[in-house]
Parts: sequence; C-alpha cells; structure tokens
Amino acid sequence: MNIIIFFLVGLIVHVVFFLSIFDIYFTSPLVHGMTPWATPLEPPASRLVLVVADGLRADSLFTPLNNGSSRTSYLRRVIEERGTWGVSHTRVPTESRPGHVALIAGFYEDVSAVAKGWKENPVEFDSVFNESRHTWCWGSPDILPMFAKGASGDHVYTYTYPAEEEDFASTDASKLDTWVFTQVKSFFQSAKSNSSLKASLLEDKNIFFLHLLGIDTNGHAHRPMSQEYLDNIGLVDSGVAETVALIEDFFGYDGRTAYVFTSDHGMTNWGSHGAGHPSETLTPLVVWGAGVNHAQRVTEPQPYTDGYLQGVKLSTLLVSQGLLPLSYLNNTDRFKAESMYTNAFQVLEQFKVKMTQKKESTLSFLFTPFQ
Ligand SMILES: [Zn+2]
Repeated sequence: MNIIIFFLVGLIVHVVFFLSIFDIYFTSPLVHGMTPWATPLEPPASRLVLVVADGLRADSLFTPLNNGSSRTSYLRRVIEERGTWGVSHTRVPTESRPGHVALIAGFYEDVSAVAKGWKENPVEFDSVFNESRHTWCWGSPDILPMFAKGASGDHVYTYTYPAEEEDFASTDASKLDTWVFTQVKSFFQSAKSNSSLKASLLEDKNIFFLHLLGIDTNGHAHRPMSQEYLDNIGLVDSGVAETVALIEDFFGYDGRTAYVFTSDHGMTNWGSHGAGHPSETLTPLVVWGAGVNHAQRVTEPQPYTDGYLQGVKLSTLLVSQGLLPLSYLNNTDRFKAESMYTNAFQVLEQFKVKMTQKKESTLSFLFTPFQ
C-alpha cells in the first residue's frame, strides 16, 4: 500500500514539474493593449536605413588588417569621422530569427518559437516596421516574411530571392548580398520615373531594411577565418558605400537619413552559432546620419574591444532592454529628456496591463499590489 502512495506522489510531483516548464518557458511574455506614447518633438530623421550583415562577428568587422588598414574602408571611415560605434550583445539562442526579432520588434522571443521551427510567429507582436509609414525590405525568404505577416495594413513590402533559387549562391554565398544591393539600386532607379512610388519615398517615417545573408552562409561553409568570409565582409562594405551614395543622391543630400549597420549574431571559430560564447553574442554596431552622435577621439584603451579600433570612442556596449541608448544621440537635452519621459510612460503602460491581467486571474484576497 505504502509503495503505491509513494509511486502516486512521485508521479504527481513529476507531472507538476513537467507542466511548470510549459508555464514558465512556453508562455509569451508579451502583453497587448497598451496606450502608445510619442514625444511631441520633431524627430531628427525622416527615414532609417537598417543593414543587418547576418552572422558577422564584432571582431571580424573591427579588427584592422596586419598593415593597419581595414578591409572595410568605408565603415572604418564612418566610425572615425562621422558615426558612433559600439558592440551590441545578443542573447541566446544566437539564431537569425530571435536576433532579428530583438532588433526589429524589441523583445526576446518566446522559446515556444522553436516549436514552429523559428518560422511562424508564435504570438502576434508589434515591430518598428509595423509602426513605420512604409518599410521596404530586401533579403532572405527565411527572415523578411515574419515582419510583413505581423504588420497591420499593407505597408511592409518584401523583396526576397525565391527559396528554391537560393542555390544560385551555392558556389559563392556573397552573391546573396550582391543580389540585395542590385535590387536596391534598381528600386531607387525605377522610383525616379514612378511618381507614386517617389511620393511615398519622400514621406517621413520610412524604413529600408537590407538583410545580407552571405557572410553567415560563407561562415558556415568555410569558417570565419576563411578568405571567403573575410572577402564577403569587404563586399558588404563597398555595397553599403554604394547604397548610401545612391540614397543620399535620391533624397538630394537632405541630411534626414539615419543609418544603422549591425548583425543578428556572431559565429564560433568553427562556423557554428546558437550558444552563448562571446564570438556568437558580440555583434558590431555602427550608427551614423541624422540625429546620431559624431565620432569622438580618445587616447585610453576602449573596453570590450581586445585592442581593436583604438583612438575612437566606443559609445557603449549596447544591451538596451528598455533603456534609451543616449550616448548614440546627437540632440538637445530637451529632446533626450522628452524621449526618456515618453519611454518611461511606455514601460509603465506594460506594467499596468500586466497588473490588470494578474488581478483578473488571481483570487481577490490573494492579490496585494506593491506599495
Ligand atoms: Zn543569422
């Protein structure tokens, strides 16, 4: 008899533990129904160009060549002369999908997304693309659709190479990036003679997103120390230079474009990612253009950089999590203060929704709000 009771108690304990895993890890942390807040002040930029070099390690971009020059001469010049740079810290799992969700939607994705093969959205979420007036995206069919699908209304446009034709890059993955740069070029070319497209482009709150998968693919196939990986970084650098020139020309050098260059995760020396080694979690961040701080000269060694890129101030090791990265902003104290104030209210909105939910799902005598 005792053995049966022992067995039953053991079984119940295990079932409770098993179910608690789903309750803790497979429940979405997202809440819906917050009131959106916005600052009343004029934003410094009318449009954002976001470039994500998939699988690019921070040290691979920032470390100079042996002779002191750089394989990314354009981005190097941006860092030294007119931009702000930093090292962003991605969280595990260091995979493309959660990396992009963190960048574009601003939260750490539910572990439950893994049950859908990182493809389908496990929960509805808002994103900066959805909040934009228009977003145009070019890149991989594995990444772009999730942000278009979640968007309300028809204002996120995606241009992807067909998945079955990804083979065109099987001999040289950097062709995936050349494809993106070529598409962007012909897009702006055609906009010159397409008056309705041109009118949309000239509006504010627009985003252009370039997803570059070549570096990641080359890293998996040849490892990050290979000539293929390193050459691909050089190709991306000149592609970015051309794209910036093209965009500046299209908008008549109006000084209203902000640029962000970063990556979704890094890669280990043997060409894998997913875990939490610094080579996988440390990613480069270069920001320049409208509203962004200029490069600042320093003499002391910069933290987190293993000695690469001496002489230019590292803005911050960016782990944003609800904090505004003020060191990147070039604006008045009034603007910064207003932005922090707005941000605080937006975070408070989430707290309020969470508290209401908790109150509704808890027996009233067990619910005690914090003082
Ligand atoms: Zn990736």
